[in-house]
Amino acid sequence: MVVCKVAILGNDIDAQRGVKALWDTGAMCTCISTQLATELGLLPDDYGWVNGANNKPFRAPIYSVQLKMGHFVIPYLRVYGLPMDGQENDVIIGMDVMVKGDLSITNYEGKTVLSFREPSISRIDYVEDLRKYDQMHKVYMKSKNEKCPCGSRKKWINCHGKKS
Ligand SMILES: [Zn+2]
Repeated sequence: MVVCKVAILGNDIDAQRGVKALWDTGAMCTCISTQLATELGLLPDDYGWVNGANNKPFRAPIYSVQLKMGHFVIPYLRVYGLPMDGQENDVIIGMDVMVKGDLSITNYEGKTVLSFREPSISRIDYVEDLRKYDQMHKVYMKSKNEKCPCGSRKKWINCHGKKS
């Protein structure tokens, strides 16, 4: 759960109150609660069919908004209005926003960290990272005096081999 701000186009986004947002990789489009839409005074531009939680399609209002999360601002975004009664969040961040940057969820040392950056700045491949990690910690066990593959120019035994 993150805090974000939603505003009508042309309004000062920083003046809005923060609302809770849920990241949902299963959602194609970003949605806001119809309650929040009413509070902001949003009027629908259009209506579109969306699949509800019970897989029953229904017609939902579509609003044009600005959205801000941390320093990341989307100046124009089309969002669906959904009833979110009894939910903690007022926004569901969908894939349309997630593909604008890099999203990661890590659990290092038991601490879950969700991080998002925009624009995307590099490719992250955890499988490749693991392969490199394994190489540094295991493959060189036989040749302790060879240079460490991390590029430190130290012998493996005095670098990454120290810990393993
Ligand atoms: Zn090393």
